[in-house]
Amino acid sequence: MEQLIEGHKRFLAEAFPVRRDQFHLLAEGQQPETLFVTCADSRVVPDLVLQTQPGEMFICRNAGNVIPRAGEPAGGVSATIEYAVQVLRVRHLIVCGHSDCGVIRALMAPHALDGLPSVRDWLQHVEPAWERVDDVERHGGELTRHTALTHANVLVQLDNLRTHGFIQRSLAEGRLALHGWYYDILSGRIEQYDEARRRFLPLVG
Ligand SMILES: [Zn+2]
Repeated sequence: MEQLIEGHKRFLAEAFPVRRDQFHLLAEGQQPETLFVTCADSRVVPDLVLQTQPGEMFICRNAGNVIPRAGEPAGGVSATIEYAVQVLRVRHLIVCGHSDCGVIRALMAPHALDGLPSVRDWLQHVEPAWERVDDVERHGGELTRHTALTHANVLVQLDNLRTHGFIQRSLAEGRLALHGWYYDILSGRIEQYDEARRRFLPLVG
């Protein structure tokens, strides 16, 4: 906790003053162009790896970058996405999985979840990744099973997203684009799902 308080002191002394004008504008409201749905993992830092500024990305995080299907008990996830798409009118919605994801490890070894009933329950949203993993491995080249399942999970969550009426309408109106990403912690590189080639390819060549 002391580290956090020291960090906030440094923010107030050093970082805030040079961004004072930016924060004054942001205090009036936000107009982010992008909704970024990713895992809660502490090693995934969207504003760092994309070099985005305060106000630029609306971020929704949960274990395993899950998006419940329409009509399912949604916690805050569906409400967050609905607000971003319908009120903030974001133009891009990115679902981003990552390497070494603990949720995917749990999917591969569910017995490790004894004593974690909430996590076990949450895992049901990720389990359909098993149904897509063979297809991902067929098109994806040399992938570990963990990476293939992580890719498959991103595709499952994009499918889930498309079950929501407001997403279907936004896509039909051409005011929203969906993207499936994968972030590799070791290299810092992002891959993007290519619909035509049915595999993840480097975002930056
Ligand atoms: Zn994760």
